[in-house]
Order: sequence, then C-alpha cells, then structure tokens
Amino acid sequence: MRVSLETRDFAKYPFLKESQQFMLQSHESVDAFLRSSAGKVAIRYAVDRVQRALSHTAQATDTASSPVPSDNLGVRLEVSSYALARVLVSCGNERALIDRLTRYEAQRAYAFLETEDETKRSYIAAQVGFSFEESSLPVTRYIEITAGMKEERWRLVNREVHEGRVRVEPLEAEELLKEQIRVTLLSQLPLEVPQSLCEELAPYVSRIQETFQQKVLEDFGEVDESCFPPCMQAIFSALSGGLNITHSGRFALTAFLHNIGMDSSQIISLYCRAPDFDVGKTQYQVEHIAGRGGTGTEYTAPSCAAMRTLGLCVRPDAYCEKVNHPLNYYRNRKKGKRGKPS
Ligand code: SF4
Repeated sequence: MRVSLETRDFAKYPFLKESQQFMLQSHESVDAFLRSSAGKVAIRYAVDRVQRALSHTAQATDTASSPVPSDNLGVRLEVSSYALARVLVSCGNERALIDRLTRYEAQRAYAFLETEDETKRSYIAAQVGFSFEESSLPVTRYIEITAGMKEERWRLVNREVHEGRVRVEPLEAEELLKEQIRVTLLSQLPLEVPQSLCEELAPYVSRIQETFQQKVLEDFGEVDESCFPPCMQAIFSALSGGLNITHSGRFALTAFLHNIGMDSSQIISLYCRAPDFDVGKTQYQVEHIAGRGGTGTEYTAPSCAAMRTLGLCVRPDAYCEKVNHPLNYYRNRKKGKRGKPS
C-alpha cells in the first residue's frame, strides 16, 4: 500500500520510520544537535512532553487538540522532543515513568489517527503491526496485545475462540490498535543510552523525577493503612500477626506497598514480624520488586482478576465493586477521605 505522508504527519506520528528518516536528513550528530539552539529548545520540549505525560489520564480527550506544526523547524522540534523524551525516561530508568510516557504517546497518536482517512489509518496501523482487515487475531497475538488490558471482557476465557483465532468486533479493533501502539512503544524502552549522554542530561532527568515523585504523592499521599483494600488488609494483618504468608501473598503486598510509595526499608521492617524472616533474602526480594534488581523491571501489584485467580481476593466490600485493581481501591478511598469524589 502506497501512502504519501505530509511533513506534519511526522509530528503526529514521530515513531514512524519515515519520521526518523526525516530527522536524519540533517546529518547532525546528537552532541552537535544538543548544543545547538534548536537542540536546547528540543530538550525543553522533551521535558514538557514527559511532564504532560505525567499529568495525563487515560480518559484525557484533549491530546490531539494542540496545534500540529507543518513547517520544517516545528516538525523537527516535535519529532526530536519525542526522541529526547524517550532518552530522558531511559536515563531515569523508572518503569512507571516509562509506562506513563508510552501511554501518553499511544493516546496522542491514536487521537490523531481517529481523524485520518481510512488509507492513512490502515497504513499507520500496519507500521505498528496491526491490521484492520482481520476480524479475528491468532491467540498468541491477542494475548500479547491484551496482556495489559485489565477489563474482564478481554480475558481469553471470555472470548470466542475458533481454530486458534480470537474473534474481534470492529469497535474492539480500535481499542486494540491503541493498545498495540502502546505495547510497541513500550517494547522499545528503555533505550541503551551512553552513560556520558545521561550525565549531560542529568539535570533534566532530575526535574522529571521530581515531578514524578510529586505526582505519586498527590495520587497516594502518606501511607494510610485504613484505606487498604480488604485483600491487602488481610495479608498485612497476617504478616503483622506473625503468620506465614504465601509467596504470591508476599509478592502482592510488597508490590502494592511499593506502588503506594512506601520505601524499601519500611517494607523490610514490616517483614521482621514474619516467622521465617531473613533480612538478606527479604531485602533482595523487595529490591527486586522495586525494579532495583538485575532485570530493572519494576513490578505492579496484581489486578483484582489476578488476585482472584491467586485466591487472594478476600472479603471484597462495596468499594471493590467500582474497581478492578487494589491500587484504584486505595486511591479512591484516600480521595474520599480528603473529600474528593471517587
Ligand atoms: S475486589 Fe480487588 S480490591 Fe477488593 S478485595 Fe478483591 S482484589 Fe482486593
């Protein structure tokens, strides 16, 4: 399929290979670019881009409302801010930060895609490996795309599967495309950035990390045990009472406590009460879940669906009916306590 892209499309879809080729036309090294006045502006744009991603919500609808440049310089700044934003979060190497950026980029690109004609939409979708022509997807591909989609309707057990393919309705294909963009962008991060470049960009990385910490604090604030969901309360009480808890229970609670902002030493001190407490082993497990282990992967507490499968969803209450993740339960209860609507 031949599609002619306009220059402004590179600003809308900076992840396309054509957008990267457009940037390569200047033959400028990264160092030279960063030192140029355009490079300095691009870094400022990149920091803004990550900060926008941090305050962005999945429901935001204004992503594509900002004007898109069509002049060469404007498009170059937009595409380079995308590339630099990825470099900045890679230097920060915080999984949650990378996750926020890719969610934002996917939402942004998808909002633009919704306004395109069918030929261009199909072409761009194909660039991230998605086809609108199929009314079903191979099971493995379906699982790959929907792994991060928490709603029950996406679970394979709730789908119509025929001869190794999962049936997909046209409206669902739209949702899957957005998720496919996110999954594709996420799979490319973190980038392998030379240490020297990360050092040069350290002040910008710190600024982003500070904003991120503030955001976590705004979302979760001081740790408040009275807002824990029943599942986490149960594991927490068992632990405090000196009872042995299962490996999956430990993982769920540790990831939950880490996600709501408890630091590693506080988490480790909780585990002192466990009958089989081993400080070295506990420290290793906590650091691993927090993403400071060998793989650098930061873990998120299991969703309600996963907690149910693990037999860890206990005594769900009325608040549970409105959530599909223990973190959302906690966030809602805290907001409710502060007098904000949930
Ligand atoms: S429904 Fe979710 S939040 Fe509520 S107890 Fe079960 S797993 Fe926890």
